[in-house]
Amino acid sequence: MSVPFVDVERLHAPLRADLMDAFARVISSGRYVMGPEVEAFEAEFAAALGVSHAVAVNSGTAALHLALVAAGIGPGDEVILPANTFIATAEAVSLAGASPVFVDVEPGTLNIDPDCVAEAITTNTRAIIPVHLYGRIANMPRLRALATRHRLLLVEDACQAHGAAQDGVYAGALGDVGCFSFYPTKNLGAIGEGGMLVTGDADIANAARSLRDHAQSERYRHWAPGFNYRLPELQAAGLRVCLPHLDGWNARRLDAARSYAEVLAGLPITLPAPAGQGEHVYHLYVVRSERRDALRAHLGARGVGVAIHYPYPIHLQEAYAACGLREGALPIVEASCREILSLPMHPYLEPREIAEVAAAIQAFTESRLEDVA
Ligand SMILES: *Cc1c(COP(=O)(O)O)cnc(C)c1O
Repeated sequence: MSVPFVDVERLHAPLRADLMDAFARVISSGRYVMGPEVEAFEAEFAAALGVSHAVAVNSGTAALHLALVAAGIGPGDEVILPANTFIATAEAVSLAGASPVFVDVEPGTLNIDPDCVAEAITTNTRAIIPVHLYGRIANMPRLRALATRHRLLLVEDACQAHGAAQDGVYAGALGDVGCFSFYPTKNLGAIGEGGMLVTGDADIANAARSLRDHAQSERYRHWAPGFNYRLPELQAAGLRVCLPHLDGWNARRLDAARSYAEVLAGLPITLPAPAGQGEHVYHLYVVRSERRDALRAHLGARGVGVAIHYPYPIHLQEAYAACGLREGALPIVEASCREILSLPMHPYLEPREIAEVAAAIQAFTESRLEDVA
């Protein structure tokens, strides 16, 4: 029996008729870009998160880039971020013309370490981008305190944390600006690409809204060189169908994570650290093993879909050689990259699939014991 890593077809099968209706409505409307579907989706997303402004864009990368540009961050400015994220977080800083400052993470959660952030702050620092990695919210109270003390913008990369909440406040609404991706495999995914910027700051919202459409003040009058970051109507219409299901999907992910914790207990792998109520929405279920590469090969050969998020720390990537950090500079991130393994995780993971993953890991453990004996 093979266990797919993700299965978006299984997710969308029950919604097929509703999605088709929504797409048909768009086709008949003749409005294909930035029309009533985008407006309605922005309003519904803002209401669901409890934020005053939501600006739809065409990717999570675009949302992160726009957040920085809309806040006036650019050349000469430093932005602090973790080194164990998807490359897009760093790209957004570079695209804005600012300098990324990569820091280390907490060993348990693998989220950005506020102590490392505090050490990295200089007179040029303008923003911090915590990434809610794997769906777990970063230590926002301490980051907020640092941001307030040093007057820094707090931009959440919530691209893996749709619907996660800390003390009743949703990811994306905890910082000054929150950025989401609707890439198909995210907790809320489009039938294609999409993104969203949310904020309580009307100036940032207005700037982002204008910049995403070439910074037009009136038709063919442009106050700055802007971008084409517009969200197509088809994507907004599909996302409107999916949004009401997000909490239910996240609850199913949490159930799957609990089942994993039960069946994997006692095996020689490290499970995700416990999380507070609602603080982790298990975009990914990531375990750690000192024999990660052998385990990965074993699971792959047995038909269990696994992946590594992410195998190479950004500060050691060729793309960021200019940051000047060498191997050994960020030890927690670097060690984690050698040990992390993402197991199959999605809302429709079945108990027999979870049992198969556990059996496969158990078999690996036993085969290793035989090798040693
Ligand atoms: C997916 C993701 C992004 C980028 O989103 P896109 O929609 O693919 O541009 C950024 N940051 C993190 C942490 C992500 O997981």
